[in-house]
Parts: sequence; structure tokens; C-alpha cells
Amino acid sequence: MRLFGTNGVRGVSNEDMNPELALKLGKAIGSHLEKGSTVAIGMDPRTSGEMLKSALISGLLSSGIEVIDTGMLPTPALQYYVKHSECSAGVIITASHNPPKFNGIKVVAGDGTELPRSEEEKIEERYFNRRFRTVGWTEIRGVRTETGARELYIDGVVSMVDAKMIGERRFTVVLDCANGASTVTSPYILKKLGCRVISLNAQPDGAFPGHESEPSPENLKDLTEIVKESGADIGIAHDGDADRVIFVDEKGEYVYGDVSLSIVAKYIIKEKGGIVVTPVSSSSSVEDVVKENGGKVVYTRVGAPIVARKMIEIGASFGGEENGGLIFPEHQYCRDGAMGAAKMLEIMAKTGKRLSELVTEIPKYALYKTKMECPNELKEKVLEISAEKAGNDDRIDRTDGLKIYTAEGWVLIRPSGTEPIFRIFAESMEIEKSREMAETWKSILKKIVKSG
Ligand code: MG
Repeated sequence: MRLFGTNGVRGVSNEDMNPELALKLGKAIGSHLEKGSTVAIGMDPRTSGEMLKSALISGLLSSGIEVIDTGMLPTPALQYYVKHSECSAGVIITASHNPPKFNGIKVVAGDGTELPRSEEEKIEERYFNRRFRTVGWTEIRGVRTETGARELYIDGVVSMVDAKMIGERRFTVVLDCANGASTVTSPYILKKLGCRVISLNAQPDGAFPGHESEPSPENLKDLTEIVKESGADIGIAHDGDADRVIFVDEKGEYVYGDVSLSIVAKYIIKEKGGIVVTPVSSSSSVEDVVKENGGKVVYTRVGAPIVARKMIEIGASFGGEENGGLIFPEHQYCRDGAMGAAKMLEIMAKTGKRLSELVTEIPKYALYKTKMECPNELKEKVLEISAEKAGNDDRIDRTDGLKIYTAEGWVLIRPSGTEPIFRIFAESMEIEKSREMAETWKSILKKIVKSG
């Protein structure tokens, strides 16, 4: 049985994500750690945050763990605190970009990175088999409140960029916090970087009254409008827990995540060379700009923790995903929305270019996405047969599902880890071509599934 999904435990508040689950999970996490260790806990502003936190803390305390309550924080800020403190682990209560009725619990390792799957399995085993450590009354520890985690993170991000150079440009920034956890950090970071900040949805509110917390083009209509009307230099948006960042250029154009990933990758490789790590689903524009500047791209399976682990393993210069999740190794090995924002401002300051100019410099590819149903038990076989159906001149990559490089571009066929479907992505220079490639493979797959 599995409890943790790709992004921790998620569910609907007070339905499957309830205090009983949080209490048991607190006991399981606490029992997994050494008696007497310290765990930091943080949360986003979702309505069930305090309820789940109280239950988690109870569970942790009953197993002999000391708890540090850091209050409301973005996920990367909690990770930064854990990395820079004596904590053996961290727990963040958030459902990231999911609608407001959801909440989730994610565990962070002592070095601030997301817990590897092998460790999660150990916690799950304790959870399902109720293998909890219950300490005697003399060994029960307490809860400390830590109000300094916020400042630690704010100063940490500011120290990672050339704040003086950014400050001299006096950028006007429209910031959309989506009523999420970034409300307590990002406005202050931008202020410290000398920006004039116009903030939207900047009061924490678990009902997300501004818009839902996925920074999609539909949800960022107000942001794009206000950037245009105010004559701002840039629009910045985070998802609910602010581990991701999305930009809007000075013309009010939404900048897709693979483009911003390419801009930052290009700049970092130009400056220090080395390797960029990204999942196989990322646009070829990343590899184009990295190669052009003498660097190398290493591809991984989809998932931020997988990218982060690979970066540690090979000593990469930078890594990230096409959804706005950017990882800066000198800062910390996890996605960090505010750090991504600070870096983009630094790039604008150092190059003297507007964001729209930086976007124009990135090769433009067209991505088409579709999906199709396939029973889970057939997935492996379907992929095997599909691999044989690729053209003779096509290059095949089996890093995650099946990626087929053709003369026009590539097609990626990925089995979903949670649903009985394949996700099919195709990328080429023209959207019509991408659509054709994806739909062709979709019908090939359908035939294979049909024949069982
Ligand atoms: Mg997130």
C-alpha cells in the first residue's frame, strides 16, 4: 500500500486528509527518527492547516520528538530552515497548487531535500503496521515557536544574487502571491532587492479568493492586465506553496515555464559552464541554449526530487522543470520560487535586457499534449511494442516511458503513476506538426491496447 504520492500525502480536508491520519503520520515520522531528535513544522494558509498541524505535533511528541513550529512558510523556506538548523527532518503542510479543499503533508530530510522514496517507504510501513514508538512520560519533549525562519530565508535568497546591481535598476514588479504562503516572504525579498512592488492577492487566505493557486495563464489574467497597465518591468507569480515561479513580460505576455527555464539555464551556463539537469518532458529549447553555450544537459525521469538527487550526484550547475520549478545548487537542492524570481531579476539587471527580449532569444518550439486510457497492467507491454514501431532513423530514449526523437522533433509517451492513462507529449517547430505526431502515436497505441 502507498500513502505518499509524488508530492507527499494529499487529500480533501476533513475527508481523507483528517486529524486521525495526521496523528498517525506524526507518530510514524517520529518513530522513524531517533528518540530526542528535533523536527521543524510549517504550513501554507489552507483552512485545515492548523487542524492537521496540531494532530501531527501530537503524534511527533508522543514518539519522543521535539517540535519547532515555524508558522506559515513557503515549502522552500521550511526546507531552507531545516538545512540551516539542527533539525533531523521537516514537515510541511501544503497541497501546493491544488484547489483549496485539498491539503497535504510532505516530509523533508535533515539536509532540506525532499525525502527519497526509500525513506518514505519506511514511514509508510510504520504507518500501516502501526509500529509506533510511545515514550514514557519523562521523555516527552515540548514545542518551541520559531519566528526567525522567515527572515533567515528572506536574507538567504537576497544573499544569493547581486542585490546591489538589481537595486540600481529600480524595477517595478507586479507580484501575485495567490493568497498563498509566499505572502510572508516574496514581497519582502523583492523590497530588499530594491524593487517597487505592486502586490496582488497578498493577504494569506486559505479560501484562495483571488484565484486558484496553479499559476496558469487563465489564473493570471489580472496579473497580465496590471503589468500592462502599470508599465511594470515584470510580473511574478507563485503557486500556493511558492516552490515554483512563473513570469509575465513587460508587455503583459505570459512566459511559459520551459522558456523561463531556458533563459535561466542559458545565463547560468554562460557564466559558469557545467551541466543542467531536467526531466525528459522539458522543451528542446533548454538543450539548444545549454549546448550553444558549451554546457551539457542530463535528462531524468519526471519529478523534482529526482532532478535534485541527480544534481547532487553529478554536481550540476543548475536544474529545473518546465512548470516553473527551478533548482539552484549553491542555494539549496529543491525547487525555490523566490530564488527563481531573484535570479530572473539579476539576469535582467546584468544583461540590461527586458524580459521580452530574453524570451525572443530562446528557440521557439510548439508543444502539444494529449492523453489516452490504458489499463495499468498493459502499460509496460504497450511501451515495449511501441518502441519497435519507431522509425529506423528515430532515436529512442527510455529514461521515463518512451521518448522518440524524429527529424521533426520528439514524442514522449509516459505512463501516469496514479491513473490508468498514458500522457503523450509532442514537440516540433510547428503546433500542427506536433499535433499530428502526437495523434499518430495515439492511434498506434490504441491499436496495441485493443489487441491486448
Ligand atoms: Mg508547489
